[in-house]
Amino acid sequence: MKLSDLGEFNLIDRFSVAFKKDLPANTLGIGDDCAVIISTSETALLVTVDALAEDVHFLRSAISPADLGHKSLAVNLSDIAAMGGTPENVFLSLCLPSDLDVEWLDQFFIGFGRLAKLHKVNLLGGDTTRSAGKIFISVTALGSAVPAKIKYRSQAKLNDLICVTDFLGDSAAGLRILLNKQALAKDVSYFVNRHHLPEPQLNEGQFLGNEACVHAMMDISDGVHSDIQRILQASKCGAKLFLEQFPLSPQLKTTASQLGWDPYEIATFGGEDYGLLFTVDPSQYSDLAVRYFNKFNRPIYQIGEITNQPDQLDYFMNENKITLEFEGFAHFGGKD
Ligand code: ADP
Ligand code: MG
Repeated sequence: MKLSDLGEFNLIDRFSVAFKKDLPANTLGIGDDCAVIISTSETALLVTVDALAEDVHFLRSAISPADLGHKSLAVNLSDIAAMGGTPENVFLSLCLPSDLDVEWLDQFFIGFGRLAKLHKVNLLGGDTTRSAGKIFISVTALGSAVPAKIKYRSQAKLNDLICVTDFLGDSAAGLRILLNKQALAKDVSYFVNRHHLPEPQLNEGQFLGNEACVHAMMDISDGVHSDIQRILQASKCGAKLFLEQFPLSPQLKTTASQLGWDPYEIATFGGEDYGLLFTVDPSQYSDLAVRYFNKFNRPIYQIGEITNQPDQLDYFMNENKITLEFEGFAHFGGKD
């Protein structure tokens, strides 16, 4: 069997079972946005790793080195945000071709360093090796959280409302524009920046981490369709998603109608939005939404609800159940 027959998540399930057994009681291993190692009732260590491979995650000709430095760190900090934690230290591994310009690397570290400074994160170490041709970047981020406030993927409850903190699909639209080189009159830089410069939602994650009514949380890296299934599996429940409630940016609505794109396809399957996806007690939702808006001057968006049928994911458009005809991006081509 090839990896492409199995898919990324079946692959992880296949090898992780053996390594999730017999872990100490204070340790959560494979399966959430971060591993969690609880030290005391007041402190837990959060750890996450993410890799970016040239021609898989980025095109060297399309992204500036400074933006790539930013993005390499941002996607890791986003996983700390997803647990409600605070990032503290990072490690960086680089595999680089020997003909790479040193100035390219200087710019990479300017982008990386700017975001690290913004979030008061220290680069403590890493590794640098030669690659056969392509650039490969891996960042490990360490953070902290109060154990009782950590949000796991496994905590969704029946009838919870499913919410997101940001527009969906802008990053995927940016990728489409880069790949298709589509001639757009406006908003090109808006979409490309949304793809290249994601902002880890650390303050938002910490705010939601402090709320007992928020049950499950993760960040949106693979697209809502794939990511919500991680919550459903971990929490052993199902979900209804209401497409007409998906938050689309005004730019995405306009561009989609100009170019004949289906904006709901992009919002559902498009990855790398890096907003937060969470579930909340329905009786507390209105109060939470008001307090969130007062703090961040931006809304949270309700896009669905949790049901009791394990792993059942149903889509609705204006109360009609629909079957999605499109499919998203999957590493190795498997169905995730
Ligand atoms: P995220 O998108 O939040 O970074 P992923 O979906 O990539 O998370 O990974 C799902 C889970 O599987 C995470 O807990 C991650 O640490 C774990 N995982 C992924 N690849 C590996 C690997 N090669 N070895 C061990 N754990 C892995
Ligand atoms: Mg994640």
